[in-house]
Amino acid sequence: MGRQKRKKYHRGDTFIQKKFRTRRRTKDLDQIDDDMKPDNAEKLLNQDIDHDLPGAGQNYCLHCAKHFVDLRALKEHFKGRPHKRRLRALKDQPYTQKEAEAAAGMGSYYAPQKRTVETQKVIEKEMDQSEN
Ligand SMILES: [Zn+2]
Repeated sequence: MGRQKRKKYHRGDTFIQKKFRTRRRTKDLDQIDDDMKPDNAEKLLNQDIDHDLPGAGQNYCLHCAKHFVDLRALKEHFKGRPHKRRLRALKDQPYTQKEAEAAAGMGSYYAPQKRTVETQKVIEKEMDQSEN
């Protein structure tokens, strides 16, 4: 067809690249759902100091599965849009086998329940500044 091929073969496939990018891959929603169980949440919010993680792993957003460098950054994050969007996404309970059966006409149908997901409470770590 004369001249050079001008067609771009990779237009608009950035989403594919993102999907397969693994370096900054965060947890999936169902994994986070698991993390929200009180036992797991407790552990995640009280992690041991790990200097490989941002902020030594001491400022963690449970719902976004992200570490922040300090408490201020964490609080800023709570106010931000990505976090609010995440909370909304987590309000839908993950699919269960029961629901699948109900949809297939086995058993009675339960509408997916909405639940309230709240931002974790920020634990103000008291520095020993007032005393001494
Ligand atoms: Zn968050």
